[in-house]
Amino acid sequence: MPTNPASPLVPTVEPGDTQVVIIGAGQAGLSTAYHLTRLGLLPGVDVLVVDRGPSTGGAWQHRWSALRVGDTHKIHDLPGMSEAGLSFASAPRDQPAREVVREYYAAYERHFGLEVLRPATVVAVTSAATALTTADVEAPRGFLVTVRTEEQMRRYRSAVVVNASGTWRRPRIPAVAGRDVFSGRQVTTPEYSDAHDFAGQRVAIVGAGTSALGFLDELSAVGAHTEWFTRREPAFTDEGPDLSQDRGKAAVRRQDEAARAGRRLPSIAGSTGLPRNAMVRRLDERGVLVRRPMFARLVSDGAITTNGAHIPLDAVVWAAGFDAELDHLDPLALNTSRGGIVVSDGESADHPGLFLAGYGPQASTIGANRAGRAMAKHIMQRLH
Ligand SMILES: Cc1cc2nc3c(=O)[nH]c(=O)nc-3n(C[C@H](O)[C@H](O)[C@H](O)COP(=O)(O)OP(=O)(O)OC[C@H]3O[C@@H](n4cnc5c(N)ncnc54)[C@H](O)[C@@H]3O)c2cc1C
Repeated sequence: MPTNPASPLVPTVEPGDTQVVIIGAGQAGLSTAYHLTRLGLLPGVDVLVVDRGPSTGGAWQHRWSALRVGDTHKIHDLPGMSEAGLSFASAPRDQPAREVVREYYAAYERHFGLEVLRPATVVAVTSAATALTTADVEAPRGFLVTVRTEEQMRRYRSAVVVNASGTWRRPRIPAVAGRDVFSGRQVTTPEYSDAHDFAGQRVAIVGAGTSALGFLDELSAVGAHTEWFTRREPAFTDEGPDLSQDRGKAAVRRQDEAARAGRRLPSIAGSTGLPRNAMVRRLDERGVLVRRPMFARLVSDGAITTNGAHIPLDAVVWAAGFDAELDHLDPLALNTSRGGIVVSDGESADHPGLFLAGYGPQASTIGANRAGRAMAKHIMQRLH
């Protein structure tokens, strides 16, 4: 049995070939898996879904417990979910979103027999052509996917890789001077767990998206003194909870343009605006929807504004968006000098056969499910 050079104590096993490896069992990964199985691929045999876990639910399993179903934007159903007798539309609105999504996704995986391998982390994807050095291998094509499970390293060879790894562990933190000298607490969205940790404190919330507004809401409700900072003036829209079709399309187009050009993806909130919904009205009534321009720097006990004023702070919550989590694709050298990777119609321009589900125009609420079916058809063409 060969050993893994990166981790010599862990044996590497070679469980063999599969057609498609899907990295991530969130909305994007499961929806792609579902469509591929509809098109005839066998889960666990032709399609292997690998997820870091530990539980079902994708990023939702990690969201803070106070976030109820009724507090979220609409949680979109996975394709075919109604066949399993489930819909988020009828989920209990007063229940923690993370529990509900965890449960519904688990039932969905069971119903369609998707056989997700978890907890299992993809640590590297390499091109089979470059990774195999032995001359006796015939025309290597596709990818080698190295997966770390609790017991061992495993390696799969597959013709297609679908990366659906989301963004949860890559929160953006603006490059602000003084982050290292600030003596208060700093948390990012994934690190935030309970508003009561900040009760009575002076808390800066940085960001112009729905997460930032959610934190303003929760923290001001438990008696924290909030200060809201954004780089640009937030764009509130009066279109109600659902984005107008035009705004949604424009946001998708901007994401698509950036992906095709290999640029860093723009922020979704910046593209779609913030719907003036019940939460925003509540914040307004409470008098906390007061936006300040982004501060110039942090000092040990607070922030210094661009006008030189000192704002005392006990904590900073960074809610400035996310980047795609793609470190495991580093061996494929996809990054451009423009800060992104080149993706057209969901497929890497540099590595045909590498698909990126939930990335760019398919991200978030505005298209992951819809794109899943188109991507599955495209994948089937690649396999034939
Ligand atoms: C704070 C916040 C609030 C949001 N609110 C809403 C909302 O109200 N409504 C809504 O519809 N959408 C919301 N979204 C968007 C939401 O995240 C997406 O709709 C959806 O969860 C994204 O799905 P995904 O499958 O792309 O990623 P994820 O759900 O993040 O799934 C990715 C999966 O990949 C796994 N993974 C990552 N790297 C690896 C690896 N190397 N190896 C193995 N597995 C790996 C992870 O464990 C995870 O399970 C919100 C997003 C954020 C950040």
